[in-house]
Amino acid sequence: MEIEFPKLNLHIHSTYSDGRNSIEQIVKSGMKTELDYICITDHFTNSWKADHIPNLNNLDKIKRYLEELDQFKMFLVNENKNLTLFRGIEIDLGSSEKFIISNIVPHMYDLIFFEYLESFEGIAFVKKILDPWKKNCTDFPLIGLAHFDPSFFITRGLDVLLEFLKEYDVIIEFNSSYPQFYSPKYEIFYNKLKERGIKVSIGCDSHHISSLNDIESPYKMIDFYNLEENLKTLIESLEIKRITYLNKS
Ligand SMILES: [Zn+2]
Repeated sequence: MEIEFPKLNLHIHSTYSDGRNSIEQIVKSGMKTELDYICITDHFTNSWKADHIPNLNNLDKIKRYLEELDQFKMFLVNENKNLTLFRGIEIDLGSSEKFIISNIVPHMYDLIFFEYLESFEGIAFVKKILDPWKKNCTDFPLIGLAHFDPSFFITRGLDVLLEFLKEYDVIIEFNSSYPQFYSPKYEIFYNKLKERGIKVSIGCDSHHISSLNDIESPYKMIDFYNLEENLKTLIESLEIKRITYLNKS
């Protein structure tokens, strides 16, 4: 399986939040790996977490972050590198709706992750964010759930969640830093992802360049649950984003 698929790590933190390395160090280090796609997804929050971790908490900082990502995206294209960089962000669902809406312009990102979706209220909250975005946005980013913990929905019912994932085309991430969420005790959930054709992605939650390439375990779990087609669909979407960008630049 590992030979057939491009290699991706779509969950990386830089010094714009709690990562140890600059965007430049991540990109340069990514070029030395066999990775094909990376996405930098720094934290965005105004929950209690905001007091504990540096994050993208104001428009000025977000602007600099996006400019720097653009600069390195362009660099990789101009240098004809195999590596593709995507612009991402990881939104803490403990943040207020107003804070999210007033700071995030969706089309500026290739991928937006939400973290900590763990209740039916959480689904309603994300829909409230996505609905107006979808209405006003043509170049819509990929939307995903970072290191998703299926336990609440396994006990309380999967249908509402699965309907939401399907309707809003939401990706479920396989994250090497959270192996407990991919335990065979959640098999029913992963079987349903397969049945419904929900996209899956791969990320390491890298906070240091030493873990950029820790992609083996998520690939193994995707293989274990026979979700190869679901990964393929995601890769097709990434390719569309990559080619659209090439044509624009
Ligand atoms: Zn993260």
